[in-house]
Amino acid sequence: MTAEILAPTPDSIARAAALIRDGALVAFPTETVYGLGGDATNDRAVARIFEAKGRPQFNPLIAHVTDAAAAQAHVVWSETAERLAAHFWPGPLSLVLPRRAGCAVSLLCSAGLDTLAVRAPAHPVAQALLRAADRPVAAPSANRSGTVSPTRAEHVAPALGDGVALVLDGGPCPVGVESTVVDLTMPKPTLLRPGGATREAIEALIGKLVLGPAIGTPGALHAPGQLESHYAPSLPVRLAATSVSADEGLLAFGADAPRGAALTLNLSPAGDLAEAAANLFAMLRVLDQPGIASIAVMPIPDRGLGLAINDRLRRAAAPRP
Ligand code: AMP
Ligand code: MG
Repeated sequence: MTAEILAPTPDSIARAAALIRDGALVAFPTETVYGLGGDATNDRAVARIFEAKGRPQFNPLIAHVTDAAAAQAHVVWSETAERLAAHFWPGPLSLVLPRRAGCAVSLLCSAGLDTLAVRAPAHPVAQALLRAADRPVAAPSANRSGTVSPTRAEHVAPALGDGVALVLDGGPCPVGVESTVVDLTMPKPTLLRPGGATREAIEALIGKLVLGPAIGTPGALHAPGQLESHYAPSLPVRLAATSVSADEGLLAFGADAPRGAALTLNLSPAGDLAEAAANLFAMLRVLDQPGIASIAVMPIPDRGLGLAINDRLRRAAAPRP
């Protein structure tokens, strides 16, 4: 079954917003490319995005907001952020900033990091949808992982199938390339991905950008001191555990969790991988606490979202530098 494609009208936009508030996924036009949107504050909706895209890793997603005031509810704002947003928003520039304490956006949207990418898109349909949904919308490009980003509504549905409930057809995307991503959490503003906002225009406002590898590219995984450490809990992690000791915290999966751990959290007692993905980062953070010697993780099946879950767990368990 492929998703319904609707012209953007007040009615179809209201329907799309209601679907997003219900945790379903909607594809919608932005000025860059079509986005696969879900409620950024809903762990399950964000897990569904990764599931629909079929990506074997969790990379952080951009949370789309109406404007700078909306962004400031979720991230720690700065003078540089203000200068960039005042010039480029709404538009094709995403800013990576520290998550605010108590940030309502799903940790899965941040792929477990303490940072969040935010963007206010300029496309009128995206703006109308964000206003109607009345919450941040996580939206990577609406394509299967490893295929080209869609710049027309008819590119979306065949690729994503059941994953997407509705496609809003806003015609071809005017910019047609992804947003520029600038990380403002580094010692110097860092260009993570070139895109619709030019490096020259950004540098004219805030000075020279450092060039850094985007998360999810091979270089980023090995960039010294950069990401690997953010992804790892401070406690040692033991994978494929089928038994536990009393000083361990257990990250369980399925109905047959061994007993006797200091603390047990179950990713999904029903063995549902989307539920497990939704819980992964929040539960890892809870288990990573004083009084627990190490974290034991039960085996997770290596299919569907299990691939991305296991990728992240393997990195959490990898020897520390
Ligand atoms: P897409 O969702 O396909 O537009 O891609 C999002 C891009 O933004 C990816 O290149 C991510 O690596 C980058 N990104 C999103 N959030 C963050 C973050 N918190 N830290 C660093 N990069 C991010
Ligand atoms: Mg993409």
